[in-house]
Amino acid sequence: MSRASLAETLAWTFASDLCGDSPKAVALAKDLLKDVRKSGLKSPFAEALLRRLALAEWTKMDRPRPVRLDSRDPKESAILVFFLNAWGATYEDLAIALSVSEDRARHLVHKARMEQVASMTRIPIPKPECRRPRELLSDFREGLLPEPLAEDVAQHLRECRECTTLDLHLRTVLATPRKTPLEPPPELVAPETARPTLSLSLDGVSRAKRRAGVGLLAVGVLMGAVQLHPGLNASASAGMDRMTASFSRWRGRGERLMEDLRVLKALAIGTVEGRTEELSQTLDEYVNSGNEPETSSAKNKPKADAVLDSRDPKATPREQQSPRPVEGAPSPKNPS
Ligand SMILES: [Zn+2]
Repeated sequence: MSRASLAETLAWTFASDLCGDSPKAVALAKDLLKDVRKSGLKSPFAEALLRRLALAEWTKMDRPRPVRLDSRDPKESAILVFFLNAWGATYEDLAIALSVSEDRARHLVHKARMEQVASMTRIPIPKPECRRPRELLSDFREGLLPEPLAEDVAQHLRECRECTTLDLHLRTVLATPRKTPLEPPPELVAPETARPTLSLSLDGVSRAKRRAGVGLLAVGVLMGAVQLHPGLNASASAGMDRMTASFSRWRGRGERLMEDLRVLKALAIGTVEGRTEELSQTLDEYVNSGNEPETSSAKNKPKADAVLDSRDPKATPREQQSPRPVEGAPSPKNPS
């Protein structure tokens, strides 16, 4: 008896949330797994792709209410909170699925949480000075507010008892334990021998190269953070210069992993836009390009900047977080 992999467990969880306990759920889970295996992405990118594919499926299915969403709130906003909590979706995942900006996705989720707060307590009519802090409460509690704004909110909470009460309830909502994924039925669990397909993207890549790749990924994540949050630019630019230098030295070695990020991004966007034909061709070429990463797939390569905004570390669920950036990166002075 094989144990289910994380990807299999998640595929089943997403599919049965969308389709209920029906044969359709098994078929959907199989489709999701097939696409992810085909991508050759390895964990955690495989799971991230799976999540985006499932969200794209949700939009194609006219946004059904997930089966395990037990709240009686009929609003779509409750579904967004569910995806964060039960699927481990990031704000960026939601933004892509809904075709809105990430800011907009965060705003929608905050509104949904405040609706949950409203079911616990009466929300007092905001005084004019309460409006802005209340809008920013989720960002504040999730550590997404830049310093002057965060201090403004903290200051308002010290002075306003009504907003403090709302904040306490919001923190209860934020602390809701994650829903555990569902155990997949045996027919979805591949025998052990079939497993390696899930991690084939690193075939033939040496250990040193893998380490270099992980360092590069961390750099990519940081660069993404800087690009997504222009406020960080000034303070981070000095560090960025140094990083860019080591980045280019290690680029060749980690090429393949950088490619993974780009492919993930292109896939997610392409799937949402319904370009599945084109995508599966791209995927085929990508998977077959494993042996000659330097020359291959240049024409299919998504824009170089795709990699820069492909991840927002702050919105990344815990289990996906890379080890601390930079420190983990191999020093350029001391290769291998
Ligand atoms: Zn207030």
